[in-house]
Amino acid sequence: MNYVPKIGLEIHAELKTKTKMFCDSPNDPDEKHPNVNICPVCMGYPGTLPVINKEAVKSVLRAGLAINGKLADFTQWDRKNYFYPDLPKGYQISQYKYPLVSGGVLNNVKITRIHLEEDTGRLIHDGDVSLVDFNRAGVPLMELVTEPDITSAEQARRFAEELRLLLRYLEISEADMEKGQLRIEVNISLGNSVSKRADFKKSVLGTKVEIKNLNSFKSVEQSINYEIKRQAGVLGKGEKVIQETRGWNENKQKTFSQRSKEEARDYRYFPEPDLPPLKINEIEDFQNLEKTLPELPWQRRERMEKEYKLPREAVNLLVENKKMADFFEEAISESRAETKKKVTGLTLNYLTSDLAGIMREKYLDFDNLLLTAENFADLITMLSEDKISSRAAKDVLKEMVETGAEPHVVVLEHGLEQTSDDDLIMTAAQKVVEENPRAAEDYKKGKESALQFLVGMMMKETKGAANPQKAVEILQKLLEN
Ligand SMILES: [Zn+2]
Repeated sequence: MNYVPKIGLEIHAELKTKTKMFCDSPNDPDEKHPNVNICPVCMGYPGTLPVINKEAVKSVLRAGLAINGKLADFTQWDRKNYFYPDLPKGYQISQYKYPLVSGGVLNNVKITRIHLEEDTGRLIHDGDVSLVDFNRAGVPLMELVTEPDITSAEQARRFAEELRLLLRYLEISEADMEKGQLRIEVNISLGNSVSKRADFKKSVLGTKVEIKNLNSFKSVEQSINYEIKRQAGVLGKGEKVIQETRGWNENKQKTFSQRSKEEARDYRYFPEPDLPPLKINEIEDFQNLEKTLPELPWQRRERMEKEYKLPREAVNLLVENKKMADFFEEAISESRAETKKKVTGLTLNYLTSDLAGIMREKYLDFDNLLLTAENFADLITMLSEDKISSRAAKDVLKEMVETGAEPHVVVLEHGLEQTSDDDLIMTAAQKVVEENPRAAEDYKKGKESALQFLVGMMMKETKGAANPQKAVEILQKLLEN
């Protein structure tokens, strides 16, 4: 039988605020020393009072606006009561009844709600001993819940990736999954593909299984695909899918049962008595937030596609990395109007392959790059005007990244200016033929690849300065004699 997966996501994102959700302790995800960013409030000492971090509220409201959600007029926090060693107060302050945002759409998936809560501490298991670090306790945590509208693993992954991009464009979270700043939970059940309502009701489908602790986009996709097969297998045998929480074993590529009947847990939610309800409309900080929204990823894709006439794939690649897209646009804006069309493709290629490659190799990002967009644009212009060869450009670029030098300085220093000087190219050709008599013979016997080899040697001889077309011409003439 064919089943239709019904998938919903719950995504937690740690917000990038200066201080924690309800106290002045620093919110520093990079702090390596345990238990330094703590205070009596986030440690839950008796007699302390929480204070709302408006910056965190604002971040969630902006996210809500970006996805066209409805912002709450009124909100209040609730206590979610449970015991766990990483929860110093014995309860988590969350939003149950009055989320900050309701509804909205992202990537064609309906959003149920976005609310704000505080993160827990972190447990570190070391042999027989468990240690607890409270630096993270009380860090603002945004939780976004989708409707179970998603129908495939790939769609779920793409949704999560788009959300990460949005959070980064809004600059409200680094959303780094490896650092646990973005945590994804999946709930999944299989529906019947039958169209008749009555048949659907009769079926034994619809038991929700949760998958927790997914720490990469890949594991989101893989675990869903696994779970679709597993549940279809269970149903195929005429058995019932058990409602439970499952984990993901990366090595075995399998989900495994963790605990059943999660929903039976009673958190005894009740309004947080130590925090005042918020009337969003009456607080000045929360007005006119539309104006604080940047160009959003999907808006940028559409604009860049039109403006630069680039293929969608290239645009996606750029927009995925905001700073790379900024660098691209800055470089293009440096070039003269009449050459813009010509340099767009070159800029894209050198940015996404050569420069990106060098940056990966040297662990650089756009924040600590010595190369400016202006100098990069100059290099591309020299290339498009045949002032340097593409081979030389790669070396020049490398040096520009290392030193921040201007391209024409590097070119002059190393004599890399491309030349069409016949004598100079001829000298190089003669030398190369002399040194590689076998390749020369091979070419004369009709082996085309020998010519490519010899031209390559000429480029090396001239440090990439020879105009490649000229080099081929002169070499051919020489060998045909
Ligand atoms: Zn604190």
